[in-house]
Amino acid sequence: MRLTGGSRRTLPPAVRGDSGGGPGRRRAALAGSALKRALLAAAAVSAAALFWAVPARVAHGTPLWAGARFTREDRDRAVQRGLLFLYGLARDPKAFAEWGSDLVGMFGNIAATSSNRELRQMAWSMGHERALEWRRLHAHIPADVDAAEVADLLFGSDAAERLGVPDQRMWRELRDAAARFPAVDYYGFDPAVEAPPNDIPEECRHCSARNVRGSRRCVLCGGTLTFRSRYDVWQDALIGTYTGDRYGVTLGGHLVDVLHWVGAMRPYPGPGEREFYEATYGITHLVYVLNDYSLNRLSADCLPEEFAFLRANLRVWVAGGDPETVGEHLDTLGAFGLTLGDAEMRSGFDYLLAAQGPDGSWGDRETSDVYRRYHPTWTAIDGLREYRWTKVLPCLAR
Ligand SMILES: [Zn+2]
Repeated sequence: MRLTGGSRRTLPPAVRGDSGGGPGRRRAALAGSALKRALLAAAAVSAAALFWAVPARVAHGTPLWAGARFTREDRDRAVQRGLLFLYGLARDPKAFAEWGSDLVGMFGNIAATSSNRELRQMAWSMGHERALEWRRLHAHIPADVDAAEVADLLFGSDAAERLGVPDQRMWRELRDAAARFPAVDYYGFDPAVEAPPNDIPEECRHCSARNVRGSRRCVLCGGTLTFRSRYDVWQDALIGTYTGDRYGVTLGGHLVDVLHWVGAMRPYPGPGEREFYEATYGITHLVYVLNDYSLNRLSADCLPEEFAFLRANLRVWVAGGDPETVGEHLDTLGAFGLTLGDAEMRSGFDYLLAAQGPDGSWGDRETSDVYRRYHPTWTAIDGLREYRWTKVLPCLAR
């Protein structure tokens, strides 16, 4: 199965070396006019849209750093434009039906962690409105629900609760439903007993069958299977257990059990090596679950390998033209205390601000895959915006 919350699944062909999506990505079959419809939907909330109208470009402002071609005002405007794009997308019924849980969580996180008051209020208003709609669509758990659906519903319910739309009955239904599935149904392994393994087959690309650990051929159709990256498996387990623990419902295990295996994931593969991409997202999500998705800061001394990895490789993604991954480097390195005093951080900011599309989004504007429209835009916003860090967390025992 795949968990999608706070996750990502794309890599530009230039870096990935092939033309496909990431392993096992959920595909969204959305018509080409989706974006237009989404923008129309955004326009329909006219009072709100007018209230949030982005001011005309001003010629003067405060440069982000000495000699920067962009100002703080440019940055704030870019982030607002990105958020308006995301709200338009989130108001598309088809996009929201598939990705609603992640989208509600996105608004909630921006509302909770941004230092810019106007941005917080925008994200809260958008998120609260979408959370009400999410509750309307998901009043109960379907009887034939599987583990992946339980996880997705839990992510959405947690996010809606954080945006002021709790539902105690749904919480009880989720608690009962979640308990029906063992850890392997959520993560493909049990983090209480072993490290993320490297022998979990991808869903069969011929017949969509799920096969048992270690299978190289599909039991149903005989097709060749490939194994998921253990870093990808790790990332899903980090996200699922973190969110379950936060919501107060055990989703196949606890974060502490997954964190137990950090040492087993090191050393990390570098640029050009197998699983470099998956390891990158495993590491960024290790940071997110440890710092409550950018609510708190971390000391680089606590995670020296991870800090060094991210710091050394940010330039790879700037050079490769991947706003999604640049965004995740900027907010995680920021959580470790790096600022625009750092030359690599400046190059990441400069790249992102130059790469925003005319519609306010980042990433591939031609794709019909909704995930690949909203997720790069979300992470670019996260890379660019300022945080109201509450504290620097102490190190976990290593
Ligand atoms: Zn098959």
